[in-house]
Amino acid sequence: MFYITTTLPYANSVPHVGHAIEFFQADAYARYFRKKLGEKKVFFNVGVDEHGLKVFTTAREHDKSVKQYLDELVPKWKEFCEKFRISNDYFYRTSDPDHHQGAQRVWKRCLEKGDIYKKYYEGYYCVGCEAFLLERDLVDGKCPNHGAAPVRQSEENYFFRLSKYSGAILEYLQNNPDFLKPEAKMQELTNFVKNMEDISISRSRTNLPWGIEVPDDPEHTMYVWFDALTNYIRVLGFDNDMERFNNWWPGVQICGPDNLRFQGAIWQGMLASLGLPFTKKLLVHGTILGPDGQKMSKSMGNVVSPLEQYEKYGSDVCRFYMLGVLRPYSDCSYREEDLKDAYNAQLANNYGNLLNRVIHLGNIKEIDLFDKSSISAEFNEIVGGYRDQIEKAYESFEIHDAVRLIGELVSLGNQHIHEKEPWRQKPELAKITLNNVSALVQMATEFYEPIIPDGAQKAMEALRKKEKIILYPRI
Ligand SMILES: [Zn+2]
Repeated sequence: MFYITTTLPYANSVPHVGHAIEFFQADAYARYFRKKLGEKKVFFNVGVDEHGLKVFTTAREHDKSVKQYLDELVPKWKEFCEKFRISNDYFYRTSDPDHHQGAQRVWKRCLEKGDIYKKYYEGYYCVGCEAFLLERDLVDGKCPNHGAAPVRQSEENYFFRLSKYSGAILEYLQNNPDFLKPEAKMQELTNFVKNMEDISISRSRTNLPWGIEVPDDPEHTMYVWFDALTNYIRVLGFDNDMERFNNWWPGVQICGPDNLRFQGAIWQGMLASLGLPFTKKLLVHGTILGPDGQKMSKSMGNVVSPLEQYEKYGSDVCRFYMLGVLRPYSDCSYREEDLKDAYNAQLANNYGNLLNRVIHLGNIKEIDLFDKSSISAEFNEIVGGYRDQIEKAYESFEIHDAVRLIGELVSLGNQHIHEKEPWRQKPELAKITLNNVSALVQMATEFYEPIIPDGAQKAMEALRKKEKIILYPRI
């Protein structure tokens, strides 16, 4: 069983490239494991977080009621998923009444455990983070993630006894060094967990009118993330179908670097309070920077829109670039020139060309390209070695390595044709050469499917029908 979930992005904008990389990566792993384990052995969750001040104020800025605003925006996220072939099994919306009840039940459980208490609090509130920041977190008096000065606010809040779970989370991190990818983030997370303080989890209704009510205290609203984080387990049936839940949890979570503390520490504390196992694995992807290497921002004019990229290049090309060229766990610049170069070199000239050659030669030599008995043992062994390596790359969540290895495999196929010159070979030998390469193309296609689902499907059809195809024309 394999469960993977993205974070739920705030529904205050259309998807940007940071969301795209997260959704693409999660989708690729879901697709890979569906092939490996079977369709029913994978559950893949995505969704949007519809609560909080950010959503509330954005709706106001658009002169719309929050409901009206969300009803227009959320379909755009679903459209994004469809366009980019995101194969999610569920699209989670935190405005769903079932989620409201679920989040309140989680609250009650933590309360019954003695992990929620009320206290008067004064602190620095960052609207961008939707959270109170500690003084020591500020850089020059500003939020390091948003570059904006937080607002000084005081009110009576509910607190979650996060400090109580510091020891348990630390122990888990120490015993499971591969819990977190990349490893380089482990120190940052460990430091945070060591110094964890109890954390405010509610706001007064006046300050935060858009969100889920605190059970039995309607003057207070749950903090947006306290309600939203529960989606990861609610979607699996936590609290109403525990058999189903236990089948899937714990699973793999994927998030961006700004989310490390929420996912790696606070959410783990909530799980501990609920008496549930910690997340199995947390993948923290890098930030996608503008072509100039700077953080994307409207004022810098360096924002790349995934939907515009889609209109220009289509789903496969964008996915291939973001999954196969950009490094999964580092900050990377999005450069269209790199996208085109990688596309032309890898998809058009290498993979598309090999597919085309095999089909063409199969036709002129009148050879059955699915004759397994004609594959040579020696070639089988080489290809099998690649299979092991590519599977290992996928299963250790090194998608970039997987794509590199598939590319190498495809190059090997082109080289094999170049060396053997099957058009000159006698029929018996040509049959072996072309079946060797056909088997290689089939394997490459199978492993490419999580990256370029549209092209992979077309490639297999063309191969089966022996139909000439220009899968990826040069751009
Ligand atoms: Zn902030």
